Amino acid sequence: MARVYNFSAGPAMLPEPVLSQARDEMLDWQGSGMCVAEMSHRGKEFMSIAAQAEADLRELLKIPANYKVLFLQGGASTQFSAVPMNLLHGGGKADYLNTGSWSKKAIAEARRFCEVNVAAATDDCKFTRAPTQEELALGAEAAYVHYTPNETIEGVEFPYVPETNGKPLVADMSSTLLSRPVDVSKYGLIYAGAQKNIGPAGLTIVIVREDLIGQPIAGTPTMLDYKVQADGDSMYNTPPTYAWYLAGLVFQWLKDKGGLEAMAEINARKAKRLYDIIDASAFYNNPVDPQARSWMNVPFTLANPELDDRFLKEAKSAGLTTLKGHRSVGGMRASIYNAMPEEGVEALVAFMQEFERTQG
Ligand code: PMP
Repeated sequence: MARVYNFSAGPAMLPEPVLSQARDEMLDWQGSGMCVAEMSHRGKEFMSIAAQAEADLRELLKIPANYKVLFLQGGASTQFSAVPMNLLHGGGKADYLNTGSWSKKAIAEARRFCEVNVAAATDDCKFTRAPTQEELALGAEAAYVHYTPNETIEGVEFPYVPETNGKPLVADMSSTLLSRPVDVSKYGLIYAGAQKNIGPAGLTIVIVREDLIGQPIAGTPTMLDYKVQADGDSMYNTPPTYAWYLAGLVFQWLKDKGGLEAMAEINARKAKRLYDIIDASAFYNNPVDPQARSWMNVPFTLANPELDDRFLKEAKSAGLTTLKGHRSVGGMRASIYNAMPEEGVEALVAFMQEFERTQG
C-alpha cells in the first residue's frame, strides 16, 4: 500500500492514526459488536461518542460555556442561508466582507433574506489581500457582520479579527478552523464544513452564542433553526453519525499532538517553507499580499503555464496529488491542512525545486 500526499482543498487528507483506528474499530467498536455506522444515534454507545467529541472540541477551542456546539449536515453552503434566517432578528440588513469566491457565495445567498451592505471588497485586486480594519465601512443597522477568515480558493487569510462595534461577528471558518487557537468569545457564530481540518464531508460544525438563537425569521425550516438543533443536541433528525465519530477521532489526535498551539507552530512552519521557496524563485509565483497569505491553501503559478500539465503529471508520479488550482484562479494550489505532515511539504518543495531545475 502506498499512500500519497494529497494536497486537495477538501475533502482532504485525514490523519493516518485516525484512519487506522477507524479500520481497527470497523467491525466491532469497543466491544459493542457493531460498526459505529450501524449504531442507533440514540443508543448509549453513540451518545458517548457524540458527547466525547463535543467535549474534546470544546477543550481544543476553549469554547466558553455560553456557546452551543452543533453537529449538523448540509455543508457550509447551507449555513449561507441558516445564518441570515437565524441572526437577522427582525432586522433587514447585514454587513458582509467580500474577500473571495466563498464570501461572494455567502453574499448571494444572504441577499435572498436581507439587504446586504458590502462593508469591504477586494475584487479590485482579484482578491489578493485582506481589507484593513480602517477600510471596513460597517452599517449602523446591520444585524451582524459576516466574513470569511480564510478564502480557500484565493489563499487569502485575514491577519486580524475584525472589530465590529459590538455587532455579532459571523465567520465561515471552513478552511481554517482548528489550524490554530481562536478566541471564540470574539465571535457570535462560527461555522465550518468538516471536510478540511475536521473530518469527512457530511458534517458541519456551528458554534453559536446562546443569546443569538431562538428568534428565526418566519418560515425558517425546522432543520435550519439553531434553537431546535441546540435543544435536541443536534439530533432533531438522524445526525451524520459516522462523520461525527471520525471528527471525534480527529479531535483526539489533535489533543495527542499538543492541541492547537502545537498545530499552529507546525502549520506556520509548513506554510513558510512553501512561500519561501516560491518567493525565492522566478519560476513560481504567489500573488497574495504576504500579510494575508493563507497557512492552509497556497496557490501558485508557473512562469510558463504551458508546463502546468507536465507539472501535475510528474507530481502525481511522485506521489503528490490534487495540486491543480481552482478553475477560477488557474495554476496550482497546495492545500496543507493539519493532516498534511511536514514530510509532505518537504516532498513537494523538493519536487518543485527539481522541476524548476529541469524545466524552468
Ligand atoms: N466556505 C468555504 C471557505 C469553503 O472552503 C467551502 C468549501 N470549499 C465552502 C464554504 C462550501 O462548503 P460545503 O461544500 O461544505 O458547502
